[in-house]
This record gives sequence, C-alpha cells and structure tokens, in this order.
Amino acid sequence: MMLETLAARHEFSLAAVKQLAKLYPIIRVESILTSLKMPTRRYFLRVNTLKATPTEVVKELRELGLDAQVYEMLPDAIFLPVKGPFPVKRLNKVVVAKKDAAESVYQGANLYASGVLDARKVKEGDKVSVVNPRGCVAAEGVAMMDGDDMVTRKRGLAVLVDTSVYKVPSVRELDIYKKGLIYDQSFPSIIAGHILSPKPDWLVIDMCAAPGGKATHAAQLMGGDGRVIAVDRSRGRVDKIKENAMRLGLSNVEARVADSRYLDVLEDDLVGADAVILDPPCSALGVRPNLYYEKEEREFQALTSYQRQFLGVAAKLLRRGGLLLYSTCTLTLEENEHNVLYAVEHYGFRPKRQTVFIGTTGFAGLTSHVQRFEPDIHDTPGFFIALLEKI
Ligand code: SAM
Repeated sequence: MMLETLAARHEFSLAAVKQLAKLYPIIRVESILTSLKMPTRRYFLRVNTLKATPTEVVKELRELGLDAQVYEMLPDAIFLPVKGPFPVKRLNKVVVAKKDAAESVYQGANLYASGVLDARKVKEGDKVSVVNPRGCVAAEGVAMMDGDDMVTRKRGLAVLVDTSVYKVPSVRELDIYKKGLIYDQSFPSIIAGHILSPKPDWLVIDMCAAPGGKATHAAQLMGGDGRVIAVDRSRGRVDKIKENAMRLGLSNVEARVADSRYLDVLEDDLVGADAVILDPPCSALGVRPNLYYEKEEREFQALTSYQRQFLGVAAKLLRRGGLLLYSTCTLTLEENEHNVLYAVEHYGFRPKRQTVFIGTTGFAGLTSHVQRFEPDIHDTPGFFIALLEKI
C-alpha cells in the first residue's frame, strides 16, 4: 500500500508515516497506526511504596469494585482494565473540543471550558456529542453551561460525559490518590525509573521534569533520601511537580523553574550530579490515543536539535561515571537512536545495558543498548529508553 493512502486513512501526516516506514515494514506501520488510535488495554499506576504495598493498594481498589491487579514483574506497578470501545452517536447538538481535550474525553474524562473550541446553539442541559476538531465523536454527555459561555469562559465544567468510546478508570478522585498512595504513570515510564535505579545518597537532576512522574519515582526509589532537583521551564507546571511531591510525601524533591538548556551556567550548584533524567519535549508519536497527527518534517528536525541542546548540558552536569536516563514518548529514529549516537560522539557518553528489558531492541546498531516500546506489540504507548554513562 502507498504511504499516502496509509496517511490519509489514519489521519496521520505523511511525514509521520514516512518516519515510521524508515524503520518498520509497511504492515507494521499500519498496525502501529491502528494501535495509536486506541488507548492501551491496561491502565498503569505506580504505587508509592514508601506509603503502601501494591497488594494493599490492589485490595483497596477491589473493595471499591475496581478490577485492579498487581504487575508481578515490577515491585511498584499495578494496573486496571480499560473498557470499550462503546458506540457513541453524533447528536444534533455538538461541542467541538480541542485535540488534547477530545482525546481525554474519548477515554471518559469530562470536558472543561478551557478545552472547548466551538459550541454554537448549545444550551445548558442539552444532550450533546463531543467531537474533535476533525469531527470524530469522542463521547456523549450533558452540557453544563450554554455554548457561548463554554467558548468565552476559561474555567468550569462544560460537558458532563456519560458515554465515551473508551472508559479509563478515573483514579484522581479516589482517596488513595489524594493520600499519595498512587501516581498514574505509563508502563514504560515506570520501567524507565527502574532502569536508572538511583541510590539513596545521589544527587539526581530531572531537566524536563513536569508534572514529575519520573522525578517523584526517582525520589521514591531513593527511599525519600538524597536530592532530586526537578527542573521545568514552565512555572505553572513546576507547581504541579510541587503538588505531586507534596501529595506523595517526598521531601527529597526540590522543584525549580529554569530553562535547562543553560542549567550548567544558571545553577552551578548542580554540577557533579550522580544522575540526570532527560525526558525532553518530543514529537509524541507514541502517545495514545492519538486520533490524528499533524507534525511535519521540519518539526521533527527542530525537536531533534532542541533535544541535543539538553544532551550537551546533561554531559556538563554529570560527574564522571554518572548516569543519563534519556527517554521519549516517540518512535522516530532521529529523536531516539540518532540522538543517542550524537551524545556518544559529541558529549562523551557510553550506552549501558539496561537491567530491566521488556521492550524491543533499537536501530542504528544500538540493538540491546536501547529499548523501544512499540504500541502494537507491547500494548503500551510508543516509547524509547536509553541509559548512558558519562565517561
Ligand atoms: N518527565 C516528565 C514526567 O515524567 O512526568 C514529563 C516531561 S514532558 C515530556 C517535557 C517537559 O519539558 C514539559 O513539562 C516542558 O514544560 C519541559 N520543557 C520544555 N522545554 C524546556 C526547557 N528548555 N527547560 C526546561 N524544561 C523544558
């Protein structure tokens, strides 16, 4: 099949399909694209083992009627089933949601005014369909305000969803979430923390940390000791890191607002770190569900160079023998293997074998030195993990 046909059928940019076709045979490209449209079948949670065991949390969830299970191969992961797909109708009254908001609604979240693009003729109390900007129906629900208010207001519940295409358990309303016993984190992202496996007395810097998934996991694996400096450029997102660290009871996390591309100069107390976590902005080609995808070749290139800036600074922050955990939620060669090779060539890094290996091996000769998670094979988001040692 022609790549153009695949791109049109799946509503992915031709540039994205070409990125995948560089690496995978066409039949795999098609199955990856199909998987990316759906959420994973299992919804993973990380258990805060400083407060509870996975078995205790699973027991609490089961008492609430949720079919939770312990993931036996990791010490701190549990999962819940994702239900669906359910049929949803296109009703006469329609609320158009922004892409990200529509993708959350598709999985059962309610729609807030901040996520509404258009809601003409909708009145409070109307039964409505929520659609994405391309008209794909994500859910049915009840309008909680007039359409005009949805568009002009920045806050408030716009649509209370009753039927969505998929239903992911909403754990954030649960007591165990509020008490800091769990953190909702994707499976490969939990794996990444175990690959780094930071020691209790380490200084760990997370250069792109918000909302704090990997930083708080590192802090947890360090038993609440040592120091995790969680940096993010966005002040609002740094507040999220603080909120999460507080909720999880992790006093070894210090959140800072900074542009990490200049961290070695701006914050010289951080030089000599034992480990750096780098999970930079990426083309997010592995995010699920991704109902359509618009990034073009020049954006892939711009992101690759942006990521390289962080890699150079990571090398300056680390002590000799220090570890860099590099991860992305994308599948492109340039942002993953090529960036690793670039770091090896230009910044004095050496790839290290990973102790937990559940994904598949990488490309460009890196094979089992890096790990890929492929949505159609592993029932996970598309994800990439490398562990590099500063030499
Ligand atoms: N590692 C996080 C986790 O596990 O929860 C997710 C990180 S997210 C993929 C990338 C983050 O990088 C965003 O929060 C974004 O604000 C931040 N970011 C982008 N450019 C940055 C920069 N120049 N300096 C610091 N943070 C940056």
